Amino acid sequence: MHCGLCLPTCPTYDATKVERNSPRGRISLMRAIADGQLEATKTFADEMYFCLGCLACQTACPAGVNYAELFEHARAEAEQSGTLKSPKRNLIRGFTLRWLFMDLRRLRFVSRVLRLYQRLGLQSLVRRSGILKLFPKRLREFEALTPEIQPRFSAELIAPVTPAVGAKKFRVAMLAGCAQDPIFSNVNRDTVDVLARNGCEVVTPRAQSCCGSLHAHNGEWALAQELARRNIEQFPPSEFDAIITNAGGCGSHLKHFGKLLADDPTYRDRAKSWDAKVKDIHEWLTEIGLQAPATDAKADRQVCPTVVTYHDSCHLCHGQKITAQPRQLLRAIRGLELVDLPESSWCCGSAGVYNLTQPEMANELLRRKLAHIKSTGAQIVATANPGCLLQIINGARAEGIPLRVVHPITLLAEAYRQDK
Ligand code: SF4
Ligand code: SF4
Repeated sequence: MHCGLCLPTCPTYDATKVERNSPRGRISLMRAIADGQLEATKTFADEMYFCLGCLACQTACPAGVNYAELFEHARAEAEQSGTLKSPKRNLIRGFTLRWLFMDLRRLRFVSRVLRLYQRLGLQSLVRRSGILKLFPKRLREFEALTPEIQPRFSAELIAPVTPAVGAKKFRVAMLAGCAQDPIFSNVNRDTVDVLARNGCEVVTPRAQSCCGSLHAHNGEWALAQELARRNIEQFPPSEFDAIITNAGGCGSHLKHFGKLLADDPTYRDRAKSWDAKVKDIHEWLTEIGLQAPATDAKADRQVCPTVVTYHDSCHLCHGQKITAQPRQLLRAIRGLELVDLPESSWCCGSAGVYNLTQPEMANELLRRKLAHIKSTGAQIVATANPGCLLQIINGARAEGIPLRVVHPITLLAEAYRQDK
């Protein structure tokens, strides 16, 4: 089918109106290469990296085209072609994909160094000194996106086993994530608290690995498979009622280990049971029946409730089709009024590392997102993916918008704490 129903939902096509920048155009290119009519050239590789991988086209497609799978294979093809290779690119990919994210102890070490740099005031000093003007524009943009590192990481905030509050109904495992841990360990803490309040005993192993979505989305198929195997070993699916993730982007990848390891006879079956056990936190809470926070006397006294709006992370809504559950959860919190965000499922430009690799397009999408957020008059924007949280936090700060940007689970955890 070439119906084109996906075209109006594609942010890159919307920006350029060029067929090649649309899902249909990209699929035609992939097909031509698969049929041997085209070589995987640099133009092809650039096009695959201009795609956000937001999967809005997958939601729109009436024929059920699995764009997520096509996209991952196309990026792997682009990498194998070697057309994008350069010493600088090889160095960056080698450092991040093959070194930093393959062992989270390294990521935590680098994060601690960065934390020290921030705490000692060196970062503000460097920013104020104007020295950054001497560096290339790309590096300055990259520096501006440096996230604030948390004082304590998940292992220091969360016990290996957290008992359920009241009767134990379920035993679940908690995935702390890779970048999520140093940047949003507080959200992990909140997630564990919320799970415990909902009758779950929560196991949070100290030794965890990156889920590998970064690798799969950047053409490193073999590394993604290696990380999938490690995750299955660290979280044996038969030992838990559910394996919980609170990051939309990770969840979308974590639910497809079965396909990733389909040709591996040792892991194939366990990967399938793993897929069935992985649950996004909002999905799980809705499935088991969320215990709404009790009446909040303080919020009830409030004349005006706090206005909150919700931005759908692409891989939570398009990748996992989870849209109603986070909204349901936000509505359960007294003192909050949820207002609709126009174009809530339109990508904010974060898209993994897209805001680093394609800053112009990412900034255009961010401006559009912020304009919609402002139009709602909300004081809080809730979103359930670390990339989206950072992108909107950075955007709001740059534009001077007084906005609290927060994971929905944090709002729920705060409401439970007020119950006490
Ligand atoms: S994944 Fe997003 S950016 Fe890529 S083709 Fe689909 S809609 Fe367009
Ligand atoms: S990907 Fe789906 S929606 Fe887009 S042109 Fe093909 S069949 Fe139509």
